[in-house]
Amino acid sequence: MVAISQVWNDFLVIVCQEVGSRVVETWLKSLVLERWDESARTVYVRAPNAFVREWVQNHYRALFCEHLARLFAVTSVQVVFVDKEREDVLAPAIVPARLITEEINQPSKKNQTINITYQFDTFVVGPSNSLSYAAAHAVTQRPGFVYNPLFVYGGSGLGKTHLMHAIGNEIKKKYRKLTVLYQPADRFVNEFIHAIRFNKVDLFKEKYRAIDVLLIDDIQFIAHKEQTQEAFFHIFNSLYESSKQIVFSSDTYPKAMHGIAERLRSRFEWGLITDVQMPTLEERVAILKRKAEVMKNTLADDVACAIAEQPMTSVRELEGTLIRLFAFSSLTNQPVNVELVRKIAQRPQVGGGRRTVNIEQIAERVAQTYQYTLAQLRSKSRNKEITLIRQVAMFLMKKLSDASLLDIAICLRRKDHSTVAHAVTKIEDLLAHDAQLKSVIETVERSFGH
Ligand code: ADP
Ligand code: MG
Repeated sequence: MVAISQVWNDFLVIVCQEVGSRVVETWLKSLVLERWDESARTVYVRAPNAFVREWVQNHYRALFCEHLARLFAVTSVQVVFVDKEREDVLAPAIVPARLITEEINQPSKKNQTINITYQFDTFVVGPSNSLSYAAAHAVTQRPGFVYNPLFVYGGSGLGKTHLMHAIGNEIKKKYRKLTVLYQPADRFVNEFIHAIRFNKVDLFKEKYRAIDVLLIDDIQFIAHKEQTQEAFFHIFNSLYESSKQIVFSSDTYPKAMHGIAERLRSRFEWGLITDVQMPTLEERVAILKRKAEVMKNTLADDVACAIAEQPMTSVRELEGTLIRLFAFSSLTNQPVNVELVRKIAQRPQVGGGRRTVNIEQIAERVAQTYQYTLAQLRSKSRNKEITLIRQVAMFLMKKLSDASLLDIAICLRRKDHSTVAHAVTKIEDLLAHDAQLKSVIETVERSFGH
């Protein structure tokens, strides 16, 4: 059984690489992958309203068909988009997933997955990553001749993918004629599985052998996939012998990888192995300032320091805090200063203490219980039903977490904490005599193990 929530998360990550985070934030995050009917190979995707449904259907349906088929490990899926207004009348949109033959014939199309926002000059270099950076940069000067393969490893969110794309971008700029392919290893695995299914293994191998620079991200995904490893082993040898550049990223160094055939593992070690680590405080400040610049914002030193001092385990988190800070500042019309950092940094997830539930998950669960979406709870709508559900969500967010009233207000895009305080009192009052509401609330609580 494939977990539907996992599929949705993976889908958003993949699509984000393909079409950018703006599309994901604007359109896709408001959708809910509601149901996967395996026997009918049908996915039901719910949009918050007809407008979003139509837009997504007209612009992104092919993306859904392609990636969801892959993620559910089937050859094609039907995607049915629904919304509140047009629940039952919709005919399934039947579009076969893009088949491997097409992928094989169009290697250049896949090259578009190189993300142009990840460049060397947006990557902040310091002691935590200088060796990886230098090696990555050297590779772009003479692809295939120095450090082949280059193997970059490190924890999640520390810049490996950024470096891989930077290599791709740089080489494409410098050597227009070279064919560069960036491929996350899970995609490689899926492509191979399709190739087997459609008897196209030879074509598959041919495609890879025609590549001049192969960037395989998160190579740990091929662990325990013996046949894929076998195919990859031959591809590797053929590229290596013709001095084609190969770069890997992985969450760990080769010796610590499990489920990888010895002969393949030893090849990972043939070139140079470098790592990326959590940046130092100074690097974190520099990264924040650089990110702010890219977002066309400026960040005062004391504010950058205040964020950088927060306990964090990845640059991704650091970036998340910065985005939240700017969003919160513009949402509430407050200046970006140290005080604001402290406010938004008091997240329940970061603090210790009793086990708390992520407030966004609570809001989402409540919304789903009433067949709404989180986006609807966050909307400006004053519709009676939505208002009540929003209040139920606020009540449970307060009850099941250590989040402050302000945290809850931000999460649900409300102006200030008094709305939340009012909601909590109101639901408490209602609970005294509304048995049905009580039972709904208890069900949601139980689903969080309370
Ligand atoms: P990984 O692939 O290691 O999980 P990513 O490359 O996806 O991590 O990095 C996560 C985020 O952090 C990206 O937005 C990336 O741009 C950013 N990032 C990581 N390291 C740096 C750095 N040294 N300078 C600038 N941005 C960085
Ligand atoms: Mg990555």
